[in-house]
Amino acid sequence: MAEIGHFIDGKHVAGTSGRTSNVYNPATGEIQATVSLASDAELAAAVASAKAAQPKWAATNPQRRARVFIKFVNLLNEHMDELATLLSKEHGKTIEDAKGDIVRGLEVCEFVIGIPHLAKSEFTEGAGPNIDMYSIRQPVGIGAGITPFNFPAMIPMWMFAPAIACGNAFILKPSERDPSVPIRLAELLIEAGLPAGVLNVVNGDKSAVDAILTHPDISAVSFVGSTPIARYVYGTAAMNGKRAQCFGGAKNHMIIMPDADLDQAANALMGAGYGSAGERCMAISVAVPVGEDTANRLIEKLVPMVESLRIGPYTDEKADMGPLVTKEAQARVTSLIDRGVEEGAKLVVDGRGFKLQGYEDGFFVGGCLFDHVTPDMDIYKTEIFGPVLSVVRAKNYEEALDLPMKHEYGNGVAIYTRDGDAARDFASRINIGMVGVNVPIPVPLAYHSFGGWKSSSFGDLNQHGTDSIKFWTRTKTVTSRWPSGIKAGAEFVMPTMR
Ligand code: NAD
Repeated sequence: MAEIGHFIDGKHVAGTSGRTSNVYNPATGEIQATVSLASDAELAAAVASAKAAQPKWAATNPQRRARVFIKFVNLLNEHMDELATLLSKEHGKTIEDAKGDIVRGLEVCEFVIGIPHLAKSEFTEGAGPNIDMYSIRQPVGIGAGITPFNFPAMIPMWMFAPAIACGNAFILKPSERDPSVPIRLAELLIEAGLPAGVLNVVNGDKSAVDAILTHPDISAVSFVGSTPIARYVYGTAAMNGKRAQCFGGAKNHMIIMPDADLDQAANALMGAGYGSAGERCMAISVAVPVGEDTANRLIEKLVPMVESLRIGPYTDEKADMGPLVTKEAQARVTSLIDRGVEEGAKLVVDGRGFKLQGYEDGFFVGGCLFDHVTPDMDIYKTEIFGPVLSVVRAKNYEEALDLPMKHEYGNGVAIYTRDGDAARDFASRINIGMVGVNVPIPVPLAYHSFGGWKSSSFGDLNQHGTDSIKFWTRTKTVTSRWPSGIKAGAEFVMPTMR
């Protein structure tokens, strides 16, 4: 059986810790490889490689750094089918969805091709008598990224592209569930001209994460995953003097106003609720129709759509969604559905018994639809991360707005309406990081920034966009005066501009 190791100093390195984790084909339930789980010494070797490579890379002018990403983007496009297949085979999502995962990462690589402009400094001539002042952005040194299983191409690229373009070296610790694509991305970056050691991929679990969080040579950590781990990584990184941005879980609501086009809203809920089997941090998991009539009409439209979802392995080109990532994920989602039934929510479409002929051991769960969910239920409070949509009926707009406002998470939210006043009021008052108006999954494009509020995010700078350039650099401000501008004699008073 294939054993996936690490990618350190520009080469594949076999794991030496003796600890491994299984990598499954979620459609068949078969173990297709094992992945090495790094020891502290293996992580330290990756950091040593990064430390040796970083000064020269930082001194490489930004246009040359940008050119590596121009070539990398071309290579990603050339290898799109191969990368998507590799990704789907370990994650389970459909091939077209896997391409979306890759392209959304590729777009951030396109964005950082603008690094010569993005990282330009500020300069003030004549800030005082004969005084000039300028602020420069310098790389933080060595950055690290810890990524989740659900976007094994996009999220690593969201992290390493801006970090590397800014002149840092980078340690990527991908999810142990689907480690092959991150390693392939590192190989392609070497082919694009990135010097060895600038990007190292270290596979592992909590132990590798802890080694990153306590390593004195790593200056900044970016994390994406579940909220308890995000909170832990944020706190531990900060305790160890590191800059950190940590993005967590979600429970994204979609408000459907009585004036909304209900066909559009139902279609949006299908894609946003069941696409990628609900394993997206921006998935819509709660639909909030406003008014009984809207709710009844929406349920009437959704039931046959959920019942006719096409579920299949990634090799089925017509599948709407695939299996969940692991048997544990399948068991967890199924038990949460059981819990919803116990709590009294009405399970109007039950996908628990779903079996696919020829794939009986796959980690599938059929699409589920709950009606009459209430805010006190566990299935409302918990991120299910599966193909389960909950309908919470609201009497009016204020009651609907109150639901996402009071929820623990604050990643994404959407409103479906034709009423500009309602949409504007909603976008202005809601306490959530990414808002869609007639857009179910409002993931900002590469040149804006991505990030939630409340328990969906810890730290103050978001992913990609100009925030990412700020996160992966430090500001240094220089005040200069040449001898001809210096008055004779010592100055004892604090200089001011009064
Ligand atoms: P996870 O938290 O289990 O794992 C994320 C990373 O943390 C992995 O690399 C994993 O190896 C590591 N890890 C796991 N347990 C750890 C521990 N005890 N200590 C230290 N590190 C640990 O998340 P997941 O299941 O891979 O991904 C799904 C979660 O990620 C969902 O909650 C989803 O909402 C969230 N997510 C959030 C965003 C966002 O931008 N907010 C994007 C994608 C996914």
